[in-house]
Amino acid sequence: ASEVIKVTNIKKYFPIKGGLLRRSVGHVKAVDDVSFAVNRGETLGLVGESGCGKSTLGRVLVRLLDATSGEISFKGETITNLSPRKMRSFRKSIQMIFQDPFGSLNTKMSIRQLIEEPLIVQTDLSKAERKEKVESMIQKVGLRISDLQKYPHEFSGGQRQRIGIARALIMNPEIVVCDEAVSALDVSIQAQVLNLMKDLQEELDLTYVFISHDLNVVHHMSDRVAVMYLGRIVEMSSNEDIYARPLHPYTQSLLQAIPTVSETENDRQVTITGDVPNPANPPSGCAFRTRCPFASEICSQKRPELQEVESGHFVACHLYN
Ligand code: SF4
Ligand code: MG
Repeated sequence: ASEVIKVTNIKKYFPIKGGLLRRSVGHVKAVDDVSFAVNRGETLGLVGESGCGKSTLGRVLVRLLDATSGEISFKGETITNLSPRKMRSFRKSIQMIFQDPFGSLNTKMSIRQLIEEPLIVQTDLSKAERKEKVESMIQKVGLRISDLQKYPHEFSGGQRQRIGIARALIMNPEIVVCDEAVSALDVSIQAQVLNLMKDLQEELDLTYVFISHDLNVVHHMSDRVAVMYLGRIVEMSSNEDIYARPLHPYTQSLLQAIPTVSETENDRQVTITGDVPNPANPPSGCAFRTRCPFASEICSQKRPELQEVESGHFVACHLYN
């Protein structure tokens, strides 16, 4: 399998301004030294509680945000060194699907205009070529050509997300970053949209980075899963492995909360208490230690690095040293 996108030591820090002079008094390490690669046609799930940095990481991937440091490469080439022409092609190759597809869009536009807009802005296609693409795409996402003349408010949540998917896919991307793409939908509608996304992945040879706080949804979609806590990946492995034999106490506690997946297979009973610590002031050593029932002295002194403890199974925890 070939690597489509690879991130190495990505950090994204946001300054905290304080005092009368609004000077920088520190920073929030929203993403703190994250590395992974995603292969062509693969889905990497990114899970974690709200505030763990997964959305920030998604925005860094699609270049809506610049990383503070670290490297992103696309098919083996570092994107920071790309020529303007290759940069344009990279931007087309990676698209994002959001929870609310019309949050930032002009809803006075018809569906046809909404789906066609990226083609007008970013391609030289003729009007006839654009029309053909838009009409083919609306059918690919399970809607009708006659729907193109309607407006977003005329559609249900699930249909609106189909339109959001069409708008993202109209540029023929290779990678799609989905950020809580189905989180606002009812469970039965979620399944329809997820299955559509799987079908489209197959048909269009797409690579997904699938961000969600919902472990069932991530389990349904992913080939591999990375678990994030306070800006860092604490465990990463195949989908089967993570759900059957989670190693990190944080992953174990997350799975504990969804009995449908873990009840029979997860022998270690881990219950976490308390909230995610303030990311502006994370605990020393292992950031999870304030909530971890296994924390020992070394956990406050030394930050555990992400290590491969079994083939393809990475974990950042002193229990496995
Ligand atoms: Fe718990 Fe220590 Fe492992 Fe952190 S390193 S998860 S505190 S046992
Ligand atoms: Mg988020």
